[in-house]
Amino acid sequence: MARAMYAAIGGLLLAVLVRGAAAPARVMILDGESGGAYHRWQVVTPALKTMLDETRLFDVDVVTAPPAGGDFTAFRPAFGQYRAIVLNYDAPDDRWPAELKDAFDRYMREGGGLVVVHAADNAFPGWKAYNDMIGIGGWRNRDERAGPHWYVENGTLKAETTPGSAGSHGTRLPFVMTVNDPTHPIMKGLPKRWMHQGDELYASLRGPGRNMMVLATARSEPSNHGTGRDEPQLLVVQYGRGRVFHTTLGHDVNALSSVDFVTTFQRGTEWAATGAVTQSVPSTFPTADTVSYRADLAALDPIFKNGLNPLDPPRR
Ligand code: ZN
Repeated sequence: MARAMYAAIGGLLLAVLVRGAAAPARVMILDGESGGAYHRWQVVTPALKTMLDETRLFDVDVVTAPPAGGDFTAFRPAFGQYRAIVLNYDAPDDRWPAELKDAFDRYMREGGGLVVVHAADNAFPGWKAYNDMIGIGGWRNRDERAGPHWYVENGTLKAETTPGSAGSHGTRLPFVMTVNDPTHPIMKGLPKRWMHQGDELYASLRGPGRNMMVLATARSEPSNHGTGRDEPQLLVVQYGRGRVFHTTLGHDVNALSSVDFVTTFQRGTEWAATGAVTQSVPSTFPTADTVSYRADLAALDPIFKNGLNPLDPPRR
């Protein structure tokens, strides 16, 4: 009798546990092209996939687009089968056929999820819907026609409409990140300030900035070719019924291995996919004055065994 009762209770518990564990969300990492050899998408994708896999929240597929000059007629990713698309991808306007752009636009409007990593915000400067999704972007001849330069002053988002080119960064040095919106699910529980590993600090980004919320900024220091302003680094955009998480961080695997990149990328992808964040903040999260990085992730870059990557000269 008692044994039967325990078995019944055990069965009930198991049913509750099984039902409580949500099925992993399908996520597509889309790669295949970058703006130049300085963005090694082939090396970056395995690092991004490792980060998502280790959460056990996602079922990740990598979809590689044809290269420049390749045939796109048969390239029809099944966007609708995924809860979120992670773009480790940067291509010019004419790369995607109109039907492909329309399919992606429809996916997002109907409630898709998008994660924009670093130079993915360089892509498609003339595709209006894409720029509405990313909020802000840079390079590929963007200027005031792309929209104002958005920055944060004393916690308030401001738009600078003075004409000029979009996109700049200084030398890859560690820098301080500052939370702008501590209430957003992606940011809850993070310290107000933390150090990010040596990376490109994107500044002077321009765009429509519609339905955009800046989650974190970094001061672009004039001493490192910067604007002197608090530049958006982590942001979210509502696009139709779709959710976008945009991180400007992550130039290379060395930068991606920064624990704050890992944490915000994992949480940002969960939020883009589901609208909620269930992950806790790791105890190794960087503090306001000390960087913290994952040696196992950095080691995914073959250059890393020679030490930190050589620092780039400033690029406009
Ligand atoms: Zn870069």
